[in-house]
Parts: sequence; C-alpha cells; structure tokens
Amino acid sequence: MKKIVILGGGESGVGAAILAKTKGHPVFLSDNGTLKAAYRKKLATNNIPYEENNHDQKRIFSADLIVKSPGIPDNAPLIKALTESGIPVISEIEFAGKHTNAVIIGITGSNGKTTTASLTYHLLKTAGLDVGLGGNIGRSFAEMVAVDPHEYYVLELSSFQLDGIEYFQPDVAVLLNITPDHLDRYDYKMENYIASKFRIIRNQEAEDIFIYNEEDKNIADFLKEKELLPDLIKVKMTSTDDTKITIDGSYHFDLSETSLKGLHSRFNAECAIHAALSQGVSGQDIQRGLETFKNEPHRLEVVASVDGVTYINDSKATNVDSVYYALLAVEAPIVLIIGGVDKGNDYGAIIPLVKEKVKGIVCLGVDNEKLKATFSTVVNKIAEADSMKAAIEKSRSMAQSGDQILLSPACASFDLFKNYVDRGEQFTEIVRS
Ligand code: ADP
Repeated sequence: MKKIVILGGGESGVGAAILAKTKGHPVFLSDNGTLKAAYRKKLATNNIPYEENNHDQKRIFSADLIVKSPGIPDNAPLIKALTESGIPVISEIEFAGKHTNAVIIGITGSNGKTTTASLTYHLLKTAGLDVGLGGNIGRSFAEMVAVDPHEYYVLELSSFQLDGIEYFQPDVAVLLNITPDHLDRYDYKMENYIASKFRIIRNQEAEDIFIYNEEDKNIADFLKEKELLPDLIKVKMTSTDDTKITIDGSYHFDLSETSLKGLHSRFNAECAIHAALSQGVSGQDIQRGLETFKNEPHRLEVVASVDGVTYINDSKATNVDSVYYALLAVEAPIVLIIGGVDKGNDYGAIIPLVKEKVKGIVCLGVDNEKLKATFSTVVNKIAEADSMKAAIEKSRSMAQSGDQILLSPACASFDLFKNYVDRGEQFTEIVRS
C-alpha cells in the first residue's frame, strides 16, 4: 500500500486523511500551523497520526504520494522540493475523485459558486436523488466518499482546488464567469488564473457536459483556441426579465416567488437548472426546488427594515464584479458600505451604476484613500468609518425611509474583521439590535 502524507489539516486535509485510512493506506498528516480542536479530535478518533506547528521533512519525504490542501500554494518551497524529488503531489479533489464512480457536478467561477452549487444540490435533493454537497463548501469531498457516500456529488471548486487535479473528470462542469481574483497566487497574470479555471474541463469527454457563460469575454476568448469534446450548454448572463427562464422553448421557470433576485441570480439558476435537467430532474421538481431554496447568508441577504430603511448584507461580495451585480439587483436609492483590503481593484465598471443608484458611500476600512479618490466626485455624500458600528451609524444618517443600505464591500475583510462571515455577522447583529 502506498504511504500517503497529507499536507494541511483543515476540512480538506482531514477528509483526505480519513479517506486514505479507510482505503487501508499508511497515512500521516502534517500541518505547520495549529489545528482546530475539532480536526484534532477527528484525527484522534480515526487513529490517524499527525503533527502540527511542524513539518517533519524525513517523514514527509518518505511518502509515495502527497495530498496537498488547497491553501498551500504550488510554489511553496516544500511543494517545490517534493515535486523535484519525484513524489507526486495531488489535491484532495483528485484523490477523492479516484475513489468514487458517482456522478459529479463540478461548479467553478469567480463569483456565484456557492450559490449555484447549493442550488443545484437543492434541486437534485428536491427530486429525491441521493446527493452530497461539498468541496469548497461545507464538507470535504474526500470525507463524504469515505464515510457518507452518495450517487451524486455537487462540488464547489475553487481555482486552488482545480490546480491540483490531474485526471479528475466531472460528468457536468459549470464555469460561471472569470473576473480578476486571487491574482497573487497566479504571478499576477490573468492568463494563469483563466487556465486554472479551465482545468475543470481538461479531462472531459464526449459524454460529459460543459455549461458555461457565453457572454464572459475571458471564457469566450479562451475557447476560441480550443476544440471541445463535451456537450456544450451556453448560458447568457443578460436577459430582459430577471424572473423568467425558458429552456429549449419547452421548459418555463418563474423566479418571482423565490429568493433568487437580480440578473446574476437568474443566471446562476439557469446554470443549476441545466445541470438538474441533465440528470433527469423534472421541470416540476425544479420549479418546486427553486421556490424552496434558501441561499447561504451574507449574499444579498435582507437583514431587516428599520424606520423604512432596508438593510442588506452582501459581505461575501469581495470583488468588484459581485458589487456590480449587487447594484443591479438592489433598488435605488442605495447607501453603499464599501471597503476593506483592496486586491488591486479597478472600480471603473461600477461607476455608472453608482452614479445612477447610489446616493451616499461609507468607506469601511483601515485605508480608504483609493475609495475616496475614486468616488468623491461620483456621489454627493461620502464618509469614512473604522468599525461596523460607525459605518452603520453614518449610513443611517445618509438614508431616509424607502432607501436601502447595502453592505457590498468589493474587498477582503482582514483589516478590520476576522473574515467575511465576521463582517456580515457584525452588520446583522448591529442592525438587529
Ligand atoms: P463564490 O462562492 O463564488 O464566492 P457566492 O455564491 O458566495 O460565490 O457569491 C459571492 C458574491 O458574488 C455575492 O456577493 C453574490 O451576490 C455575488 N454573485 C453571485 N453570483 C454571481 C454571478 N453569477 N456574477 C457575479 N456576482 C455574483
């Protein structure tokens, strides 16, 4: 049996370790940071040896196969040294994919992965299929394969997860969009990030299905030079009615009684519907699923209405493109709370919408200079805040009955918050209190 070393002890690494153990491999997990108590416990329960705050080089280099967590970049010195010494390094997704014959629906893109994956899962589940949801969301794919196997898996796949695949072949691949993100992991080259996203179809064959956004320029340009094997399903982002979806002229879906609001949600829903139809789910079950779907929090989540002002939490909007679609979806007048750690943002794309719909902006971050320089001539009112409480107070003073206060930051949250969840929860709690 191959000796397997797992690098990284988060959801993905611990899941991979459990799968390796279940399959009878000698396995060792190594993390140079501190493990969360829950993962320590899981490893102990499963009798899996591990180390934390250390990388025992001798033990790691004695492996026949390394399974790497997506958080560890390919150019980390340890990974480079392992690859140079000829030890194969694969991702948890690749490893789990080898151990299941289930139908796999893989979903990637810069924005909308979680929403589309959860919705696709919900549509299949509503139809009574035996389906698991995992990958970059919730439970690791490997752990499900090991201890809770299903006939179908819907997987949210980040570019980091796709970087580590070799033979992984989803039956259905969905590519939602490609807009600049995470460029720090791709040598600041957009073409590297695009290539990473397209790895999702690299092993697809004629019987597989590829659903993609035909209006995304990065996708369209890349495809010009490719000859594709899978069945292609092209979906448009634009539409004259963001509540209606018609497929092949014969299936009609209505989103008006659902929580899926705005053009981007309509698009995500259409991708999920195609994926469900490809697995034989009926139009009726799909409509029922659309109506009972509840999205994860922090994505255009309506928190409350206070004194006629509606508060919307879109803390997960960590890039400019997601703010663009938030501004499209939310009715004017809007007071926008924006800011945080700038990832090299170009705000040009949202300026026309800001002009049209935003009456005031509150910049919430440690360094707000770029935001002030960009927007001070675009909106009448602009203010700064260095805490969520201050941001809400300032936006409230700009708003009146009928307005919407939208937290849609376009930036990472690490300057003032633990993560986007903490940022969204603080917003929600303060609004509710
Ligand atoms: P991801 O998992 O890719 O980060 P989420 O579903 O968590 O995607 O949504 C992240 C942010 O992007 C949210 O603010 C959401 O409103 C926005 N969003 C969702 N779908 C799309 C889309 N198709 N295009 C652009 N923005 C989107």
